[in-house]
Amino acid sequence: MPYVIPVFIPHRGCPHRCLFCNQQVIAGAEQAENQKVAGRESEVSSQITTWLERPHRPGEVQVAFYGGSFTCLPRAEQERLLAAVQPFLRAGAVNGIRLSTRPDCVDKATALFLRERGVRVVELGVQSLDEQVLALAERGHGVRDCEQAAGQIRAAGLELGVQLMPGLPGEDSRSFFRTVEQAIALAPAFVRIYPTLVIAGSALADLYEQGGYRPLSLNRALALAVWAKKRFSGAGIRVVRVGLQPSTALERDCLAGPYHPAFGELVASRIWLHRARHLLAGCPAGQQLRLTINERDLSAFVGQKRLNMKRLAALGLADRLDLVTSQTIARGMLEYVVG
Ligand code: SF4
Repeated sequence: MPYVIPVFIPHRGCPHRCLFCNQQVIAGAEQAENQKVAGRESEVSSQITTWLERPHRPGEVQVAFYGGSFTCLPRAEQERLLAAVQPFLRAGAVNGIRLSTRPDCVDKATALFLRERGVRVVELGVQSLDEQVLALAERGHGVRDCEQAAGQIRAAGLELGVQLMPGLPGEDSRSFFRTVEQAIALAPAFVRIYPTLVIAGSALADLYEQGGYRPLSLNRALALAVWAKKRFSGAGIRVVRVGLQPSTALERDCLAGPYHPAFGELVASRIWLHRARHLLAGCPAGQQLRLTINERDLSAFVGQKRLNMKRLAALGLADRLDLVTSQTIARGMLEYVVG
């Protein structure tokens, strides 16, 4: 994982506001922590300098423009923001730039422009690949824009990331399953999954208060995210985040929806339970399953309040499990021996 220097440009560049969006809140906590919303070249430059002076692990360093739709900004402004990073790139203090944007703001010329200025990774806010869901979310673009943008990003040699939002108005499980399959066809390197939350100040909040929107329950959101994460991982696509980063602003302004401060850990925990159950089910009676996992996966494996272990015990499987941790096995991987 690179050391990421965040530069927040909340809601800048957006031609309009999506139904669910209150980007000021989504970016709020990180913004407070970092004390700056960068707009000018000098602000970007001082933000990078500050972060480089902090102790950080050696290796890849990336500057990330988060929180807005970078490529919807006027080209001169994009040029200015990216120019601020160039001295750090030339000096080797920063190795690349990443940014997020909307699918209808990326064409071939834009993708090449970004690559020439040191951008390595572009994350597309795809959210859904169902035309009706996109229309209800007032995204202002369609599925074709997502496909076209993804193709241009990959063709320019940039790493593609895709963000999805299960639970948008008008989406049912089948629509979400189709979205996941279509997202796999976009061939991203990685995916983020953010179940839809009702944020104060968004148009979705008005709809919710008028009784026009029912958010996913936490349990349903977990089930969808577990399914999607398994499906993406099976297709060789990294799922780098599930659930929004917890923050004081988010906890204050989240009116409804499947918010949990450790949503990603709950998803990981369910997946470990499924894997353990599957292996234990194939373990002959009277034999032990010796399972080795990375020590940093232990808490997710065990589950919050040891829920997974209690479930395995309730199924009569816990006694047959011999769980071992290791520092050498890769995170998310397991090794097992039956005997
Ligand atoms: S494109 Fe992103 S930042 Fe812009 S309004 Fe929509 S969700 Fe908000």
